[in-house]
Amino acid sequence: MQMEDLKKFIKKEDQRLRKYYGNFEDEEKHILARTVKLTEELGELCDEVLSYHSLQRQDKLDKRDANNLSEEFADVVITTFLLAEAMKVDIEKALKQKIVKINKRYKK
Ligand SMILES: [Mg+2]
Repeated sequence: MQMEDLKKFIKKEDQRLRKYYGNFEDEEKHILARTVKLTEELGELCDEVLSYHSLQRQDKLDKRDANNLSEEFADVVITTFLLAEAMKVDIEKALKQKIVKINKRYKK
């Protein structure tokens, strides 16, 4: 998948969510909802990481689906991109700048 495909999907999903939730007339509420959703998805990823290492109750482990881990990683990425979209952050530019910054750390 290319970054352009992901960005197109995020714009489309943002429009679908706005339509579904009544267009988020209050933008601050929209951003807070996106932020809370991100923490929800991060919690779900943490749950899967714990399960991956068998650090959950047995009844939870019994219900574990191995595909859930990768799905939760995707949920965190998608909700992060949706929050960036809501806050008008150019995530591609932000990622490029951050990668340059991280790479500089190792050039000393
Ligand atoms: Mg999820």
